[in-house]
Amino acid sequence: MAKWIVAIDGPAAAGKGTLARRMAAHLDLPYLDTGLLYRAVGRRVLNAGDSPADKAAAERAAQTLRPEDMERTDLRVPEVDAAASTVADVSGVRAALLDFQRRFGTELGAVLDGRDIGTVIFPNADLKLFVTASPGERARRRWLELKGRGLNADLAEVERDIRARDARDIARAASPLIAAPDAIEIDTTHLDADSAFARALQAAATRFNLANSDQVN
Ligand code: C5P
Repeated sequence: MAKWIVAIDGPAAAGKGTLARRMAAHLDLPYLDTGLLYRAVGRRVLNAGDSPADKAAAERAAQTLRPEDMERTDLRVPEVDAAASTVADVSGVRAALLDFQRRFGTELGAVLDGRDIGTVIFPNADLKLFVTASPGERARRRWLELKGRGLNADLAEVERDIRARDARDIARAASPLIAAPDAIEIDTTHLDADSAFARALQAAATRFNLANSDQVN
């Protein structure tokens, strides 16, 4: 397979991660969940007893990030959702994580999911997908996921958190969440994971001239 760069952007809990993982396996490309980088920075700031709103502390945490910080099992909890979203607004944090993301994709190609992959990290990506869903549906999915992991969550609160993260991602000056003009949008509000994957494969098949790649596996 070629060294393609596939950029998958979109808001929280729209189904990017599941889609990106399946695309990576199908296209035989490495996969990077870039949200984990911001989560790891947020976690380090919290663990150091600093505030995620403290820009200098966030920048320090990003500059000294180690691979094992991404291996932690406590990165997908609500306090880290909020901390990651806050540190992601700091331009020094984004600058510190930019090189890592570019290096990751350069050698072998990659599928990367995030907020600014197709606009800032790889503006020349071979394929760009923008995955969305309504805030209510995204909140429902995130709530089910939390429940499935045994975490007690209130649906209305989950939706408030998702909307707050959307607002911060969209409004920030540094790399705001926005679809690249050449991104193909997939709205998963009424699509299950297989149907979303089929759409993405169709887009990849057209872009990369692949035969027989419309089979879901
Ligand atoms: O994708 P995920 O929800 O894990 O990302 C956590 C947070 O990191 C998001 O709320 C977003 O603010 C930030 N993020 C970002 N740019 C990326 C990936 C994530 O700003 N490429």
